[in-house]
Amino acid sequence: MVRKMEMLKACNILVTGSNRGLGLELVKQLAEKNSHAEKIFATCRDPEGPGAQDLRNLAAKHQQIKIIRLDTSEPSSINAAAAKVTEHLKGNGLNLLINNAGIVKMTTLESETLESMSEVYKTNVIGPLLVSQALMLLLKKAAQQSPQKEMSCSKAAIVNMSSEAGSITNVLAWHLGQIISYRCSKAALNMLTKCQSLGFAEDGILCITLHPGWVQTDMGHNLGLPPLTIEQSVQEILKTLAHLSESNNGTFVNEEGKIIPW
Ligand code: NDP
Repeated sequence: MVRKMEMLKACNILVTGSNRGLGLELVKQLAEKNSHAEKIFATCRDPEGPGAQDLRNLAAKHQQIKIIRLDTSEPSSINAAAAKVTEHLKGNGLNLLINNAGIVKMTTLESETLESMSEVYKTNVIGPLLVSQALMLLLKKAAQQSPQKEMSCSKAAIVNMSSEAGSITNVLAWHLGQIISYRCSKAALNMLTKCQSLGFAEDGILCITLHPGWVQTDMGHNLGLPPLTIEQSVQEILKTLAHLSESNNGTFVNEEGKIIPW
């Protein structure tokens, strides 16, 4: 079924890990198709480096895009980024936080180590927690300033980029790779999202955890040949975000908005 393209009406948006892959395409489509976007904070760990050239080219074409340094595994960089975002917003709130940055290690039950379990947990779980904490005042402000009563991604929301690989029921693509630390980290990210949805419901902040599909990014190619292009995945994700409401708070959905079992 072809879904209607409904517009996300979030004015101020922040995306982590936006120099390549899904993060870069999210920023691109938000800038090109979401006429409501006033400021898109495209964050990445090395804005001046060669890995951010595509993002810099994109930002040169769209003045709403502000590139800000943010390494999700470094608390001082998270706090510095939050201070810059606050300054840019000049008293306005942040409507939508997309915790997209993530890493995978091609490990097995035999090869997994303390170091790789810790690094993946730090980036994929602690990162989104600390980024959400650092931006919480701005998200609450957006919820308070919004004329909308209902929860939505246009009002105030945290979207945590998860994976069906972390679904304990589905254990997606086990035959293609065990990736133990990655699966455990995404299961933990799902629990974090559920906790955030309970903790921030009375502030009017919608919290969801989202599987983007199996997508043709650097990460997606680690397990074989993914069926979805980056453009297709992000198109579907943005349609889904535009439709989410209070009834979706604290759920685990795929790029088409369908519920995934925990
Ligand atoms: P990519 O590997 O293509 O890109 C990952 C992005 O995360 C890069 O921009 C990378 O930056 C950034 N990143 C990694 N660590 C950090 C950090 N410490 N601080 C800031 N940024 C960081 O991955 P995808 O685009 O495919 O994945 C995006 C999200 O979607 C991830 O959370 C992933 O788990 C999830 N996902 C992806 C699927 C897929 O099929 N592609 C399937 C299911 C989930 P840098 O260039 O500096 O390394």
